[in-house]
Amino acid sequence: PVPVLTIDGPSGSGKGTVSRLAAARLGWHYLDSGALYRAVGAAAARAGLDLADVEALARLTRDTRIEFREDPDGELRVLVDGEDATDALRTEEAGAAASTIAAIPEVREALKDRQRGFRRPPGLVADGRDMGTVIFPDAPFKVFLTASAGERAERRYKQLKGKGVSVTMDGLLREILARDARDADRAVAPLRPAPGAVHIDTTGLGIDEVVERVLAVVAS
Ligand code: C5P
Repeated sequence: PVPVLTIDGPSGSGKGTVSRLAAARLGWHYLDSGALYRAVGAAAARAGLDLADVEALARLTRDTRIEFREDPDGELRVLVDGEDATDALRTEEAGAAASTIAAIPEVREALKDRQRGFRRPPGLVADGRDMGTVIFPDAPFKVFLTASAGERAERRYKQLKGKGVSVTMDGLLREILARDARDADRAVAPLRPAPGAVHIDTTGLGIDEVVERVLAVVAS
């Protein structure tokens, strides 16, 4: 079977950056499963769907075209129904919308096969919340990344400040804790380390150090 490295963890743990770099080093494909949930959340908002109408939501989840494309600078762009939605999907609102629809079992079910379709030779790095527990339980390599909430808020603060967005540390910390609680307490696919996953606490570690530790999991 095609090897998979699953990297799960809470938002702001550095998963996205680390997963992309690890995939590049291995020469493997990369799945940003959070982007799928963000794209569906945005599509549902745009269609004005009632979130209680799970059948319509499941249909929308199946019908929304979501494509990943690398731009000339190597940046990953997300196209939703043919339109570049990368920047809109990165916002805190898009994250909150994603986390709301991600709690709906029909939506998660409708995304299962699509996520598994990313498993192609020579290998896949899958980034998300339930990659090791639900989507690729047979993955030979599993990592669970964490970082303290304070550090995650700080990373996000720097990111947003760099883009000229005005935010406060307090506000960010509150949002992060609220999203953590929602992701960990939901009934379907709550955020949990997969059995056998290697835990890496990235608090105080630089990206390169984390990437090395993750690659060591695949080498072992
Ligand atoms: O990773 P990212 O912050 O882009 O994910 C956005 C939201 O999508 C998360 O807060 C989580 O609720 C949901 N998600 C999920 N399962 C995944 C990936 C993301 O439930 N595999």
